[in-house]
Amino acid sequence: MKTAPSTEKTIPTLKHKKMPEIVRLELTNTCNLQCPHCRHHSPEKKQPENYPEYYKNPTSMTEAQVDAIIDEVAPHKPSITLNVANEPMIAPTFRYAVKKVKDAGLSGTFNTNGLSINEAIAHLLVDTKYDSINVSVDAATPETLKLARGITALDVLVRNVETLVRVRGDKQFPRIGTTFVITDYNHHELPAFLEFWKKRIDVVRVTGYIKDGRPDVSYIPGWTREMLPERVPCKQIFRDIVIRANGEVTPCVITAENPDNIVLGNVFTDGGVGAVWNAAPMQRLRDLHNTGKWDEISFCGPCDYWVETFNFKEEVKDGFLVRTPSPYTTFYNVIEKMENWDKKKLHDRQGTEVEMDA
Ligand code: SF4
Repeated sequence: MKTAPSTEKTIPTLKHKKMPEIVRLELTNTCNLQCPHCRHHSPEKKQPENYPEYYKNPTSMTEAQVDAIIDEVAPHKPSITLNVANEPMIAPTFRYAVKKVKDAGLSGTFNTNGLSINEAIAHLLVDTKYDSINVSVDAATPETLKLARGITALDVLVRNVETLVRVRGDKQFPRIGTTFVITDYNHHELPAFLEFWKKRIDVVRVTGYIKDGRPDVSYIPGWTREMLPERVPCKQIFRDIVIRANGEVTPCVITAENPDNIVLGNVFTDGGVGAVWNAAPMQRLRDLHNTGKWDEISFCGPCDYWVETFNFKEEVKDGFLVRTPSPYTTFYNVIEKMENWDKKKLHDRQGTEVEMDA
């Protein structure tokens, strides 16, 4: 680990490995909900003048394409996330990809809106020992669920998660979580949300709201941009590769909002995952970050999501191991349900710390 001089001060530098440590696969570019706060598929975003061309043409990976990606990266043991800006369970290759990830000996996770969880899906995830699944809920009441996800069927989501828990029974996997994107209209429900889910599942992830266009920490209740620490390089471009359903690579989950404009290469046509990961467009971004020149990148300059680079702080509180690197992410791990969480296997974002000089 080393530091690089910038014009006024030294900043920490990050290194990337030969292959990404997290591979995010968008099995399909569609979703079966139109959540009002979604940066991709909200009703407002779906207006023809707002909806990117990429989303106007439903696209899904084939089994052969899933094979090509997983077979290439498997020797490097990355963690696989089966979604980007979409609902993974509606992808034609969802079941195939779940099996492929585990047959390849990799750790896998994904986020889902939970509507498609049923007995068959639950058995698939339990039988394959899929590592972790996170269900987006965002609310403790049907009224707030309507604001967050455009539906009121909180009972259906609870029932579907409970199906997964029941089918898992005494087995360890998958590790089951629910997620809560904290905003001005739901933050008062967080204590009730934690209390409700603590009795049912293994972990709750609370995520800071990402405003349209760019992450602005001042949209997270209790935070202002002045409260941010000294800026450091963003670990997203050193650790994760984000592969869209058509094979295109975008620098990070944040830039996934601009699928028509920000593309660094295509893993299906430009030589594979490693070729795009190590090619000049991606490396240029890393070099600019490691020399403190993030402002020269139009999408990175105004983005606050770099604050995720810091490693987790931990505290034990109210029956949880609470882990947080930044206002954008807090994991509430239920202390009584930690046996299915192996930090070293990197099966979700909690296991992906980066080394960085103070
Ligand atoms: S600073 Fe923001 S836009 Fe730039 S790579 Fe990080 S998360 Fe993406």
